[in-house]
Amino acid sequence: MVKMSELQKKDLEYIFHPCSQMKDYEKLPPMVITEGKGMYLKDEFGNTYMDCVSSWWVNLFGHSNDRINKVLADQAKSLEHVIFANFTHKPAIELGERLTKVVPKGLTKLFFTDNGASSIEVALKLSFQYYQQAGFSKKKRFISLTDGYHGETIGALAVGDVDIFTETYRPLIKESIKVQGPNCFHCPFNLKADTCDAQCFNKMEEALNNHHEEVAAVVVEPLVQGVAGMRIYSPKYLIKLRELTKKLNVHFVADEIAVGFGRTGKMFACEHAGVSPDIMCIGKGLTAGYFPMSIVLMTEDIYNAFYADYFEGKSFLHSHSYSGNPLGCRIAVETLKIFEEDKVIETINKKGEYLRKKAMELFKGHPNIGEYRQVGLIGAFEFVKDKETKELFPPTDRVGYEIYKIALKKGALLRPLGNVIYFMPPYIITEEEIDKMLQICKESVEEYLASR
Ligand SMILES: *Cc1c(COP(=O)(O)O)cnc(C)c1O
Repeated sequence: MVKMSELQKKDLEYIFHPCSQMKDYEKLPPMVITEGKGMYLKDEFGNTYMDCVSSWWVNLFGHSNDRINKVLADQAKSLEHVIFANFTHKPAIELGERLTKVVPKGLTKLFFTDNGASSIEVALKLSFQYYQQAGFSKKKRFISLTDGYHGETIGALAVGDVDIFTETYRPLIKESIKVQGPNCFHCPFNLKADTCDAQCFNKMEEALNNHHEEVAAVVVEPLVQGVAGMRIYSPKYLIKLRELTKKLNVHFVADEIAVGFGRTGKMFACEHAGVSPDIMCIGKGLTAGYFPMSIVLMTEDIYNAFYADYFEGKSFLHSHSYSGNPLGCRIAVETLKIFEEDKVIETINKKGEYLRKKAMELFKGHPNIGEYRQVGLIGAFEFVKDKETKELFPPTDRVGYEIYKIALKKGALLRPLGNVIYFMPPYIITEEEIDKMLQICKESVEEYLASR
């Protein structure tokens, strides 16, 4: 046990933290954050940390943002919550009006959930029920990609494919059909960006041709498979997926939870391909990192399949206690206003270019960096033992975790995904802060390598 403050001891007395082996906390106790402002978090000892991962990819405009604080306080004064069945309120209506103008064309109706995984559950239920009601009773399965991530409830795990999250629960899960997904760093066709025509879509084509009669939907993370290690793939894959799912009467579900709200340099990742899914899940940045809320958007066609006289039994009877919470809606409305008024997408692309240039400069030729890849304000590199063979450090070395600990001491919150070190900063990051983030990252990597 390392020395701990009173608060740290009490935390460990009561709290079971997410995505953690609690025993690790004996050596690295939880950091008690007392304040967040902009890019920075401050702990009880006065240490500061640059939040280079936007606190699990949710924060867009910095911590304790003055503009959002104001509307949050204002909304709390008039209405904090109300049951959302038969009741409604202006923030939800305004959000519907604004959101449907900026999402891919054809997504016209919003269904509220309160976290990403739940929105995936809703997407699956909607698609399944749609086809049951439309007379396609054989459609009971889903297709998704290898190494995909869609959240950690039982239904979401079924379409996901990250063993550390799924393995234990396999007996509880109704597994989706898994299709080998794009993996450009290890491209099986040895293609480069200019020769890629998403040839790897052949696997999806095969699965869809074989199974479309029993499949309701294909679920993918468009453009970037986040948890898989910020794997960026060609928008051409999405164009092909849209064409084929349409042709074969299968829904296309886009999980934009991580990539939506500007992350990839467009408002939604599907825009890179110019495609509209049938169902789209959004969360994370939707409330700029303030409030647990997510939304499932769907086409008019899907909505209409549930619209009937009550006793036809076609209603979608899914609900959450906090569905459509006014505080969350009001913040989401403000988030959209900020995007529009402050030209946030332009900013993301400008800062993204700066990040790319600097990262390439700093890591160029590094013997342990297999590849640097980036889209919008997601930057990532593959940390390898051998650049030529792409051999990785063994998982037992916990390379990512070791680098994470070193970076914390240097004042940066980087949270590698296995051997992939990535940057996903809030959009308010400045060029100086980008330099500092990269510098700390480089020093942490060097210090780790020197310690091996
Ligand atoms: C985070 C994430 C989810 C799950 O969202 P939660 O709010 O954590 O349940 C689902 N899909 C993707 C792509 C994500 O990044």
